[in-house]
Amino acid sequence: MITIKSKREIELLKEAGHIVFLTHQYLKPFIKAGITTKELDKLAEDFIISHDATPSFKGYEGFPSTLCISINEEIVHGFPSNRKLKNGDVVSIDIGACYKGYHGDSAWTYAVGKVDPDKAYLMEHTEKALYEGIKQVKPGNHIGDIAHAIEEYAKLHHLGVVKELVGHGVGTSVHEDPEVPNYGEKGTGPRLRPGMVIAIEPMLTLGSPEVYVADNDLTVISEDGSCAAHYEHTVAVTEDGVLILTGE
Ligand code: MG
Ligand code: MG
Repeated sequence: MITIKSKREIELLKEAGHIVFLTHQYLKPFIKAGITTKELDKLAEDFIISHDATPSFKGYEGFPSTLCISINEEIVHGFPSNRKLKNGDVVSIDIGACYKGYHGDSAWTYAVGKVDPDKAYLMEHTEKALYEGIKQVKPGNHIGDIAHAIEEYAKLHHLGVVKELVGHGVGTSVHEDPEVPNYGEKGTGPRLRPGMVIAIEPMLTLGSPEVYVADNDLTVISEDGSCAAHYEHTVAVTEDGVLILTGE
């Protein structure tokens, strides 16, 4: 069921989203060679708690930590460990925070030191694909318009679109209806209405879009080992367009 949020609920979702944004900004200077992903997780957890919020993912369907940290060929649901970041790594950090019962969800991909030009290309165009999707958010458009815009942009730039994983509604649960795929046809799927809140999250690869799930039953990895990137904002449909909730 797709829920329409009241103005008051959108305010709370914006506060939750802003805490997620601030957590990303706080982590940025720490994303360097030598830090372990566990250390990043602890920094993020303490930061979220210090803002009167709780990590959305910890304990969600058995997920063990605050952050999803996915490195290089890992696409999503990588989790913190004693693995150290290395120069040239591409690291996707997905953050969820819950404030007064409402969630924010945003992923961003970061370069560790200097990365290869093809990885920089992947990051640049996955981020742009996210904004191509966001441009389609307005009342009267459909989920398929967002999906189609992301897919077309990715194809134009010869990037693989991961289809097994999708965006979603956000509210008092971090994952609600509707699903927001990164591929599809214009004019299909649920119609966007003011008060809908969705997470749009293209996951693109430099190679094949095929994926598999690691032995830990959580981490999703590109089948051909090609590098992946993941950018996500939680946004609200407004009367005249879109409001990004996980931004400044
Ligand atoms: Mg996320
Ligand atoms: Mg999400």
